[in-house]
Amino acid sequence: MNNKNVYMPGPSNVRENVRQARSIKTTNPDVDVDFVEFYKSTCDKMAKIINTKNDVYILSGEGILGLEAACASLTEKNDRVLVIDNGVFGKGFEDFVTMYGGEAVLFSKSYKKAIDVEELERFLEKDHDFKYATIVHCDTPTGVLNDLSKICPLLKKYNILTVVDSVAAMVGEKLLVDDWQIDMVLGGSQKAISAQPGLSIVSVSEDAKNSMKNRKSKIIGFYCNLTIWEDYYEQKYFPYTMPISDIISLDRALENILEEGTENTIKRHERIAKATREALKEYGGELFLNSGYSNTVTALVIPENIGALNLTKYIREKYNTIIGTSLGEYVDKLLRIGHMGENAKLDKIIYILDILDNSLKDLGFQGNGSLVSLFNKYYK
Ligand SMILES: *Cc1c(COP(=O)(O)O)cnc(C)c1O
Repeated sequence: MNNKNVYMPGPSNVRENVRQARSIKTTNPDVDVDFVEFYKSTCDKMAKIINTKNDVYILSGEGILGLEAACASLTEKNDRVLVIDNGVFGKGFEDFVTMYGGEAVLFSKSYKKAIDVEELERFLEKDHDFKYATIVHCDTPTGVLNDLSKICPLLKKYNILTVVDSVAAMVGEKLLVDDWQIDMVLGGSQKAISAQPGLSIVSVSEDAKNSMKNRKSKIIGFYCNLTIWEDYYEQKYFPYTMPISDIISLDRALENILEEGTENTIKRHERIAKATREALKEYGGELFLNSGYSNTVTALVIPENIGALNLTKYIREKYNTIIGTSLGEYVDKLLRIGHMGENAKLDKIIYILDILDNSLKDLGFQGNGSLVSLFNKYYK
């Protein structure tokens, strides 16, 4: 089980020093105040990487916990919530909103491109009575990237709080939480951050805190209630026992990013993603998207006579290598190359492009030239 090569758009590969960090001898995270300081310093590193002065919390639970916690903490019965939907995760917010009694109003657009800001603006001119809006930064099943730098300030102009799922983008894409006025950003340990799965990251603005404080009804649930974190640092007390080893390894992964430099990390993702797309196009492949290409994942259309599931099975069996198809209606149509975190490295991308090239040709695809040579041609 543990010797496979994995190229999924998350969970991504974990560097040796992050793996080892998890086995360090630990203290008692409930009573040792040194751990409170350590936890706070890990949150502060995260805040620095995503450019915010807002409070950042690390929750014990995989990325989805952050999505649910944001909706649980903000939604009251019959609140109108704008669900911006140009991907599978974008639409998925509808479930969390309605689960907590809200009325989800969908702004549904093509899954093949980024949200058109002017179109959204025209929509908001007519209807802007929303408590908050949800949007996905990079919607992983197709890889589409939305321009938060324009969308979030636009929503704030109408006093709409913004909840952003950046689980698959954070660290691989530019993310200026404060400049872009994002009220809640949600991240996960297992994508571009390249730590193990198990932790959610949430940043919470003053406006979001006030909204939670001014609720008429109580927040439903405990684990998903973000107000339980408010005074943890002053009280030196966590709402529940923190998974200390997970947090130590996350801290190490964040150190790796800070050592490289946040800008350099983003640049590394960008260079790999661009060359991958150019290579696939010249090779004769069809990219799924028409615009809004992300740095962290590339979705390639697989011809029907080959089939994405068949291709990934072939790759798994012949090369002991796991690469993803997609979700929902795209499960047999798209192949997704996850070039995020530790996978956004030259050796990793060249390995997977070589395997992909051979496998596509074995299954009858007439590719132009070699994917690796094409990648090298465009890697600048
Ligand atoms: C990975 C991911 C999550 C977390 O969800 P899982 O499917 O449980 O891994 C949330 N949002 C996005 C956009 C993701 O890519």
